[in-house]
Amino acid sequence: MKMSRLYAPTLKEDPAEAELASHRLLLRAGMIRKEAAGLYTYLPLAWRAIRKIENIVRDEMDSHDAQELMMPIMVDAELWRESGRIDAYGKELVRFDDRHGREFVLGPTHEETITALVRNELRSYKQLPVNLYHIQDKFRDEFRPRYGLMRGREFIMKDAYSFSATQESLQEEYDKMKEAYANICVRCGVHALPVVADSGEIGGDTSVEFMALADAGEASLVYCDDCGFAADDEAATTKVSVTEGPGNGTLEKVETPGLGTIEAVAEFFGFPKNGTRKSLALIDSEGKPVVAIVPGDHELNECKAEHVFGKGYRMMTDEELEKFGLFKGFIGPVHLPAGIKLVCDSSLKESKSWACGANEIDYHFTGACPDRDFKVDEWADLVTVLAGDPCPHCGKPLAAARGIEVSQVFQLGTKYSEAMGATFMDEDGKEKPLIMGCYGVGVSRTLAAIVEQHNDENGIIWPVSVAPYEVSVIPLDPKKEDCAKATDRLVQELLDAGLDVVVDDRNERPGFKFADNDLMGFPYQIVIGKRGLKNGTFELKDRATGEREDISIDEAATIVA
Ligand code: ATP
Ligand code: MG
Ligand code: MG
Ligand code: MG
Repeated sequence: MKMSRLYAPTLKEDPAEAELASHRLLLRAGMIRKEAAGLYTYLPLAWRAIRKIENIVRDEMDSHDAQELMMPIMVDAELWRESGRIDAYGKELVRFDDRHGREFVLGPTHEETITALVRNELRSYKQLPVNLYHIQDKFRDEFRPRYGLMRGREFIMKDAYSFSATQESLQEEYDKMKEAYANICVRCGVHALPVVADSGEIGGDTSVEFMALADAGEASLVYCDDCGFAADDEAATTKVSVTEGPGNGTLEKVETPGLGTIEAVAEFFGFPKNGTRKSLALIDSEGKPVVAIVPGDHELNECKAEHVFGKGYRMMTDEELEKFGLFKGFIGPVHLPAGIKLVCDSSLKESKSWACGANEIDYHFTGACPDRDFKVDEWADLVTVLAGDPCPHCGKPLAAARGIEVSQVFQLGTKYSEAMGATFMDEDGKEKPLIMGCYGVGVSRTLAAIVEQHNDENGIIWPVSVAPYEVSVIPLDPKKEDCAKATDRLVQELLDAGLDVVVDDRNERPGFKFADNDLMGFPYQIVIGKRGLKNGTFELKDRATGEREDISIDEAATIVA
């Protein structure tokens, strides 16, 4: 590829709208362009990187017994009615009618489509297990699309779905996917932690997220360096707090006239039932956010509403929640750990502060965990609260970090197969619902995560495995015959060695070319200069380390390969 022909309009200045390094650099290096909020065009360089990520994903999926297929982006809304998700999914779901008035959705994920597919085809235990995947654009009308490719409205996802006859078989498929996902991160150069995302049974997990560690990440997590335990904010509170015990606090019986379960509360306040969001938040009579609660939803079931909702408070609407930046994973001033009731006693309420603390219905501890009682004004981040707590597995202090969720594996069980009548005939002659798992990789988000982790003040530093081009050849006098000849020969040798090569044949100053090549982040740069040619050498620069060395013209291709 000749750079004189490459469509990669680089920018001299940092674009004002970009806060994150990945967003800024992908724009500056001429790799993405915004069409509208959350909608991006991948220009040729980014698209090459995307295809490399996809191929790594493909390779790992195929070698872990999954098969690629392709499903439509447009999904019959009828299927989403069958699964019961059509309303529960909320406004992220784009719905529209076709010309005949039939309703469709743009698939934000494809459980419904795939369940409808296999329910007619997978009829016997003999056909199981099966794992099917595709790589496709997904559409989610995120309330606040931001950070470039990190949170888009249209984004590329690899989603896989497994179907099993038994829980043991699901576990096997799930473990294979977890292994594949760990490999994908490593092969893409993403430093990620597998993080427990859902409170699983003891000795097992039912969902793991792979979190690329990055200060700019929207997710927070705690981890233990010693034994490898890691959990996202929701699961962390489950694991950590439940094991915490009563501490030194006083157990007090409190009156609980409450509304009952959190579902009842949600209904009372007009929250969508079975909503996918696991966070709730309160707003005071002046419309200010007062408290955000971001627990696992099952843990909230017994939370007594009256404890939480004093007079003058109401639930935030979805719009308000988003407006105040309270996303899932966000921790407001009060975090309600698993199995712990949030209690507001009158003294605390006066001081506009909330206490959390008990493990039994109708009881709460006062003074049990003073560091978990937050002032309303102190918007505490859960992880800074949990950091230093003992690891629930080994007791060593936990560390806190921020992360980017690049992928997630999930044991679905029979939720969709039951709702949609996807059954098979088991060995014992009985009709049973298929046992499912689902597994998603954010392909375009992975690209952003890679850049987030691999950059410096001069630009992107691509890991070789996903670099748009592995080598750039930079002739300093492309018009001069000896330079042009040496360039042609080197490029041919590099191509013959199987490398992806770009040649900066532009008639520009060396400094301009170096800056552009650094910005675009090609891992190896070979400079062809006058002096070197005289001595029979090229200069090889390693983008990551910045190291330069003279290499002999005859051996250049072998050295780089
Ligand atoms: P998040 O918590 O960031 O909203 P999610 O949990 O809703 O993500 P999943 O439903 O688990 O996302 O989808 C699988 C993967 O798709 C995610 O792990 C992530 O990498 C990617 N993904 C999800 N939403 C987006 C988005 N808006 N833009 C880019 N990638 C996304
Ligand atoms: Mg989401
Ligand atoms: Mg998530
Ligand atoms: Mg997820």
